[in-house]
Amino acid sequence: MRRPILAANWKMQMGVAEAIAYADRFLGLIAEPTAVDVILAPPATALDALGQRLAQSPVALAAQNVHPAAGGAFTGELSAGMLSEVGCRYAIVGHSERRTLLGETSEFVGAKARALLEAGITPIVCCGETDDERESGRTFDVISEQLEISLGEIPADRGADLVVAYEPIWAIGTGKTATPETAQEVHAMIRERLRDRFGDAAAEIRIQYGGSVKPDNVAALMSQTDIDGALVGGASLDPESFAEIVRLSVIPTGDPQ
Ligand code: PEP
Repeated sequence: MRRPILAANWKMQMGVAEAIAYADRFLGLIAEPTAVDVILAPPATALDALGQRLAQSPVALAAQNVHPAAGGAFTGELSAGMLSEVGCRYAIVGHSERRTLLGETSEFVGAKARALLEAGITPIVCCGETDDERESGRTFDVISEQLEISLGEIPADRGADLVVAYEPIWAIGTGKTATPETAQEVHAMIRERLRDRFGDAAAEIRIQYGGSVKPDNVAALMSQTDIDGALVGGASLDPESFAEIVRLSVIPTGDPQ
């Protein structure tokens, strides 16, 4: 049984004071202990303060990026060791905004994922197709290639330490969500690719869906066999909305007999 995993990606939004105010409100809204893994990914400036606020709470801290090198002349970058020092347990890598706006390649994403694992941080490795790629029937090919390269450097015995996020680019920040069936079809394919690469550990790897997840669509998405959580952008900026998404992501298992 894979434990659901919900992550808030705040992108370049929320200063330090706002992040702490959010955490104060959010921690009061979610049940404790939660039946899901819950993660907040603030901008880098808020990592340290938010990490201190979340310590001893059931909510984990994530970075939105990392550089693969352990240190050196990389102006503006942060290493996995630095992220670990401020309490990051997860880091998002290969988000489509970084791939398309900043030219990040799957090779670079793979090097980041490997560096994170070496530092004891769980990578959330994103993949997803554009509208054109979907319309031309290339969704599976595009995602298979992204995964093959992004996960190519991951040691074969570390598969279970990964999280993968399927984020169709046409659904990110657009209000368009993949239907649960469309998302499930891609998630099932991703799990097959993970099985090719990591064998039985693929059954343990959690695959999040991302792309305009909201309180009113999360339950239907989470009801799908291979959808194990969500990576949430816009709807995570409001603590009430994200807490509701967390609450609705737990699928009732039915009344005890
Ligand atoms: C994201 O940026 O990872 C994302 C899924 O954004 P949104 O929920 O706003 O579509």
